[in-house]
Amino acid sequence: MSWSEAHIKHTAVLAKLGLSASLIAKALNEKFGTSYSKNAVVSCMSRNGIPLKSTFKASPPTQPQLPTMPDGSDTPAAQRCTLLQLKPGVCKWPFGEPQLLDFFFCGGDAIEGKPYCAGHCQVAYRGYWN
Ligand SMILES: [Zn+2]
Repeated sequence: MSWSEAHIKHTAVLAKLGLSASLIAKALNEKFGTSYSKNAVVSCMSRNGIPLKSTFKASPPTQPQLPTMPDGSDTPAAQRCTLLQLKPGVCKWPFGEPQLLDFFFCGGDAIEGKPYCAGHCQVAYRGYWN
C-alpha cells in the first residue's frame, strides 16, 4: 500500500497530538478505509521525519543522594531498619555500634545486585563505582 500525501499529513497531525502509532493507524484506517498496521505507520513516520511523541516524560537523571551525615542522623526514622527488619532490596549500610540500642541499618532502596542504596554504594565502592 502506498502512502498518499493526505495520509502522511494526517499522520503528522495525529503524531503531533501525541497519539501512539497504533492509534494513528486505527484513525487512518477509519478515515481513509486503509489497512495500515502500527508498523506501517512507524516506518512512514521515520521515512517522512515525523517524530513520534513519547507518552513517557523523560525525567532528568537523578544524582544519587550522598549521605551527608556519617552517623546516619539524617536517615529518616521511618526508613531505618534493625537487623530483624532487614529484607532483600534494602540498604544494609550499618550505623552506630551493633551492641548499642541506637544501632540501625540505612534501610533505603538498595541498588539491584548491591547491598546498599545509591548513596552508600558511592561510599562503599568509592573509585570503583560510577
Ligand atoms: Zn543506604
